[in-house]
Amino acid sequence: MAKVSLKGISKIYDNGFQAVKSIDLEIKDKEFMVLVGPSGCGKTTSLRMIAGLEEISSGDLTIGDQYVNNVAPKDRNIAMVFQNYALYPHMTVYDNMAFGLKLQKTPKDEIKERIEKTARILDIEQLLTRKPKQLSGGQRQRVALGRAIVRKPEVFLMDEPLSNLDAKLRVQMRAELIKLHNDLQTTFVYVTHDQTEAMTMGTRICVMNDGIIQQVAEPKVIYNHP
Ligand code: ADP
Ligand code: ADP
Repeated sequence: MAKVSLKGISKIYDNGFQAVKSIDLEIKDKEFMVLVGPSGCGKTTSLRMIAGLEEISSGDLTIGDQYVNNVAPKDRNIAMVFQNYALYPHMTVYDNMAFGLKLQKTPKDEIKERIEKTARILDIEQLLTRKPKQLSGGQRQRVALGRAIVRKPEVFLMDEPLSNLDAKLRVQMRAELIKLHNDLQTTFVYVTHDQTEAMTMGTRICVMNDGIIQQVAEPKVIYNHP
């Protein structure tokens, strides 16, 4: 059974523009699915509908065995990482990571344990007492990942998470995300306009164009047969 299932999903914005046109997509448990395509093709809109941040105009969305069309983001078993990190500037790294867990009423000692374990995985143990403005771009991106991982989501949603990093760091973080996916054994859905990123990271790739899905296949199938 699919981990995330989109059936006939459409998005028509308030101004009447149809950004997503009745797409069907079955994302399997534990796969690294990359949504790729040119700017404006509907990738972010699709991801935001999975996250519950954008209302679905029509179609059926399930995550795990839960029908989630009208389920609030916090009650979906997902976490999302954005390109602009969206860290809380007045909080330390530790408190940024603890925030979602506190909302879920996770016990204090479990919060501490989970944050320390996550910080080790991402190599940010030394940064826990800093504020976001005291971090480099790469460090901020790791903290944003940490804040998502620490909640142990079933599905991990990422929207161009590397696009604000310089080229060298971007290549390094690609490898780290592949390793993270292997370590966490969870489902990743990753949006990018960058074909190299899609090809190197995805276990499967969903190619979008103008609000529709053109092809869903393994990277070697898509990029070896133009
Ligand atoms: P992508 O992530 O592939 O770049 P988006 O999903 O962000 O594409 O956008 C798809 C299309 O929907 C674009 O043409 C964009 O301009 C349009 N769009 C996005 N948000 C809105 C909105 N709030 N109102 C109207 N149109 C929107
Ligand atoms: P990068 O070149 O990778 O963006 P920076 O030049 O911003 O990194 O930072 C280099 C090192 O200095 C990093 O380890 C970062 O944590 C540390 N650092 C940056 N700004 C501050 C600050 N305001 N206070 C303490 N440490 C800082």
